Amino acid sequence: MPEEENEETEEGIEIQYKKTGDLNVKHFSRYGEFLVSFELSKHGWNVYNPMYDEYIDIIAHKYSCAKCGKNWEITPSLICIKCKKDFSKTQKSKIIPVKICNKCKKKYIGNITKCKKCGNSGSENFTNIPTCDKCKGEVKLINFVCPCGSEEYKTKFRTIQVKSSRVEYKEGKSKNTYAIDHKPRDMINCEHHFFVWCLIDDDDKPHFLIMSVQDFIDTMGSSMKGTSFLKDQDRQHFSSVNFGKWAKFVNRFDLLE
Ligand SMILES: [Zn+2]
Ligand SMILES: [Zn+2]
Ligand SMILES: [Zn+2]
Repeated sequence: MPEEENEETEEGIEIQYKKTGDLNVKHFSRYGEFLVSFELSKHGWNVYNPMYDEYIDIIAHKYSCAKCGKNWEITPSLICIKCKKDFSKTQKSKIIPVKICNKCKKKYIGNITKCKKCGNSGSENFTNIPTCDKCKGEVKLINFVCPCGSEEYKTKFRTIQVKSSRVEYKEGKSKNTYAIDHKPRDMINCEHHFFVWCLIDDDDKPHFLIMSVQDFIDTMGSSMKGTSFLKDQDRQHFSSVNFGKWAKFVNRFDLLE
């Protein structure tokens, strides 16, 4: 969020705050980051805030299948190895706590420290067998295997700069535009760095545009060389109805993958 200086002046004042409206520029910028964070989380990303950084607002991280790229479940599941019933989420209480005496092999259910048959005692002398309530198979912690068959995952990190805009107003009249303002120094040359624009329409509905730095540069075309851009005086104004030349980035969360 390095652009406060600019937005508080001139053009910033033109924006007539509506429902998200009572938010000042700084809070609105935070609000946009929150919306983007939740949206990223819906797409399987773990989201972190850098303690301090001028250009990175969010660090996003996820595990995905090394083969097919689908989201990877990093935590192991509790699964019956016989019937494959999954106890991980809501069924944990249904696991039957079977214990077997190591000496005489008598089977018990529940907490037992002394075998009634052979007198064997001490928890180390019993074997725990968490048992399936459905088929009596053993329940084990199983590492995730992708439906594609892969047992390998990879870890992805992305850094993100968020820019937010409301619909612009002038003298109480909608200009039907959003305004986004990237500066030359935002053009971090890293393939894992992205811009996410969070555009809030007059019904308070957010629209997300996702692009890599290179996508931004390509779409800007020759205006990247414009003096006003290089002097930090350039703002992208575009239609709030169809997003103009930026429309191709609407909801492109797949570009982060
Ligand atoms: Zn896979
Ligand atoms: Zn079972
Ligand atoms: Zn025994």
